[in-house]
Amino acid sequence: MSANLNTFENIPIEQRNIDLAPYNTLGVQAKAQIFYSIAEAEQLKALYNEGLFRKKSPFILGGGSNILIKSDLKQPVLKILIPGIEVIDVNDREVWVKAGAGVVWHDLVRFCVENGYGGIENLALIPGTTGAAPIQNIGAYGVELKDVFQSLSAFMPETGNMKVFNAEECKFGYRDSVFKNQLKGKVIVTDVTLRLEKGPHKIEDSYYALRKYFESENVTQPTIQDVFDAVVSIRRSKLPDPALIGNAGSFFKNPIVSKEVYENLKNEFSDIPSFPADQNRVKIPAGWLIEQAGWKGKKVGNVGTYKNQALVLVNHGGATGEEVYEHAMNIQESVKSLFGIELVPEVNVIE
Ligand SMILES: Cc1cc2nc3c(=O)[nH]c(=O)nc-3n(C[C@H](O)[C@H](O)[C@H](O)COP(=O)(O)OP(=O)(O)OC[C@H]3O[C@@H](n4cnc5c(N)ncnc54)[C@H](O)[C@@H]3O)c2cc1C
Repeated sequence: MSANLNTFENIPIEQRNIDLAPYNTLGVQAKAQIFYSIAEAEQLKALYNEGLFRKKSPFILGGGSNILIKSDLKQPVLKILIPGIEVIDVNDREVWVKAGAGVVWHDLVRFCVENGYGGIENLALIPGTTGAAPIQNIGAYGVELKDVFQSLSAFMPETGNMKVFNAEECKFGYRDSVFKNQLKGKVIVTDVTLRLEKGPHKIEDSYYALRKYFESENVTQPTIQDVFDAVVSIRRSKLPDPALIGNAGSFFKNPIVSKEVYENLKNEFSDIPSFPADQNRVKIPAGWLIEQAGWKGKKVGNVGTYKNQALVLVNHGGATGEEVYEHAMNIQESVKSLFGIELVPEVNVIE
């Protein structure tokens, strides 16, 4: 049924004083004064017509797996649930798949792998929604969203119009995009279209953990299904499950420094690891820096770092957003004083 944008029938139900603990994987307590569940893009236009976005920009909530909510939210919270996965175009080699912003990312990956569409199998099991995937250009095991991104549609709460963004307009970078910078909070993604391979598939298995996995399983010519299974298995063994212990994945980005800075650090810390970032710069694993600064597995009050991966901050139960933030800032400070490197949070801190 097509929606009539000028009537009230599309206005979603307003809920008040909603506890956000079940809506963020860190599991911190906070309340949303006003909360709407958005199941179709037209509801955003109806809320715009009602004047909801006139005073305050809304906070857009996906799966809550990359946010730290510091305190109660006064701005309207829009929980994006827009469903639907469809193939919108196809040629001999490629297929274009469009998914609603509320589709669980891993469900989209599974759909693609099951249908033989290659390109996002390395991104299996990343928590969260499809609509949030472009916000930080999600990446894992040698693949980033930008590698398969075609376009996204978005509702613009300042103007009440829809806009289509192509890859260039998204300004993707390492765990970064225009939506974390100039357009922060100004865009509500409603659907995302990916360009995938029907086959033959290009398999990305250069990542060390993947190669090791395939070696141990005697897989010599992995398929996209093999990569999917491998990534799921490796991730399950390495990362804490937010259903069991509150966390938001990697809390900080891996810092990128010039080769010169890296060489100077290497003189002092001979075993400092690095990966090439581009021709002139290297990436240093933030987890290693945090571990060297003595934080791995350390618990302070209700907060700590994960015992197997210092880059993941965990809520041992009952931690407030402020407490998690303070812990993160203490880690940032000690890494800075030991290595002279300022860690930048990957997680979105919501005031
Ligand atoms: C255990 C664990 C492992 C993880 N591993 C990885 C990993 O390997 N690689 C990686 O890149 N990330 C990883 N993450 C981080 C996270 O899963 C991703 O960033 C994911 O894309 C966040 O999706 P979300 O729906 O939960 O977004 P949320 O946390 O709800 O939101 C994140 C940001 O996006 C904005 N946003 C959400 N939806 C929309 C929308 N529809 N329109 C506009 N803005 C929106 C929010 O306002 C917020 O600023 C991990 C997290 C966890 C908990």
